[in-house]
Amino acid sequence: MSKGKKVGEKRDLPGIKSAELLKLRNQYVPKGVFQIAPIFIEKGKGAIVEDVDGNEYIDFCAGISTLSLGHCNDEVIAAIREQAEKHLHACFHVLMYEPYVRLAKKLTEITPGSFPKQVLLANSGAEAVENAVKIARRYTGRRGIIAFEHAFHGRTALAMGLTSQVKYYKYGFGPFDPSIQRFPYAYSYRAPFNLKDDEYAEYCVKKIEDSFKTYMPSEEIAAMIVEPVLGEGGFVAPPPVFLKGLRRICDEFKILLIADEVQSGMGRTGKMWAVEHYDVVPDILLSAKGLGGGLVISAIVGRKEVMDSVDIGGIGGTFGGNPLSCVAALKTIELIEQSNLLARATYLGNITKNRLYNMKQKYNLIGDVRGLGSMIGIELVKNPVTKEPASEETNKIRKRCHEYGLLIMSCGALHNVFRLMFPLTIKDSELEIGLNIFEDSLKDANG
Ligand code: PLP
Repeated sequence: MSKGKKVGEKRDLPGIKSAELLKLRNQYVPKGVFQIAPIFIEKGKGAIVEDVDGNEYIDFCAGISTLSLGHCNDEVIAAIREQAEKHLHACFHVLMYEPYVRLAKKLTEITPGSFPKQVLLANSGAEAVENAVKIARRYTGRRGIIAFEHAFHGRTALAMGLTSQVKYYKYGFGPFDPSIQRFPYAYSYRAPFNLKDDEYAEYCVKKIEDSFKTYMPSEEIAAMIVEPVLGEGGFVAPPPVFLKGLRRICDEFKILLIADEVQSGMGRTGKMWAVEHYDVVPDILLSAKGLGGGLVISAIVGRKEVMDSVDIGGIGGTFGGNPLSCVAALKTIELIEQSNLLARATYLGNITKNRLYNMKQKYNLIGDVRGLGSMIGIELVKNPVTKEPASEETNKIRKRCHEYGLLIMSCGALHNVFRLMFPLTIKDSELEIGLNIFEDSLKDANG
């Protein structure tokens, strides 16, 4: 029995033990490493977390979309334990091991595209992005990369350059790779000139095509990197004409299409990969976050001829595709398939969206509810007509949710979008309680 507050009961944050640890954190960890709340976790199971003071929470963050199967899935733990008894780390460059090649094979089977594929395993989303760009450049012999506004691709030097949010991902860290070209993303809710969804999406596509005549030769562009659903940028699912248009341009100008599915992949949208909603097949697909069921791993899955164009030794790394992460990923994929989690993501998403559409009718603060499957964004505005971002209200709601036992986080360049990332194994009753706390907090902030 926990000695702290149950979900729904107000707690003081930080608790006594969290406050003690916070002192250590503040002394020894730089402030640049952001936190959404002054809470230290003790343990987690499924969608429920307990902090070091014994307070319970429902987790709508799930390690930022890493825990599709929830905290501490028994079967994932058993797979890791079994592997840990055999060997922890031999480095794939020194001694190869079965889980790496089994996972590579599996990923080629579950990603879109019937052509032959190969897979490089790495450690993080940013590392996947960096490798995809390296490989695309080596294959095409071109340098340029097209990226989009509101994109988030990671914090390493090149990935940060591709990212499109100044404060605080890029602020003070330049210069950025000069071969990156930026174009608007079909973010319908914030479309300019009152353009309708499809009109704006077509405009975004045309802008790229036009640019090949006005300021950059298409022959210099190696790849286009796009999130099929924006993650950090605001959980925006673009109209199909956008992604289809990008695919058409890539085909016409022999540019590689890289789908960054680091956040949108692994079942969250109700399909294994978000691109499947759009019937678009990328040349390279990137996965991380949810892939390892909580362990550290990322994957670059691409056309065989593209992946194999790199000279021996050109890609890899000491820890890339470590065996514990490989077995955890294999088990995670198996469980997603076996327990019908894709259908569950759609089901949970529908319940949630219906509830949120209902809240939108009641509270002016909600400007937009959007998303695919369980990848749902809620954009808050001070005024539904001017769409002025309600970032202070977003902070206030987030804090109140935490105080009542709901872990939730926001995103977006304007800091005014809640993103829901609950485990796909969350119980219906837990989801309902979490949404109740969210609604109460919204009501409180709506005034
Ligand atoms: N790409 C996308 C779409 C992401 O959402 C993220 C992380 O949020 C990254 C890349 C970077 O991943 P990591 O933090 O594992 O480097």
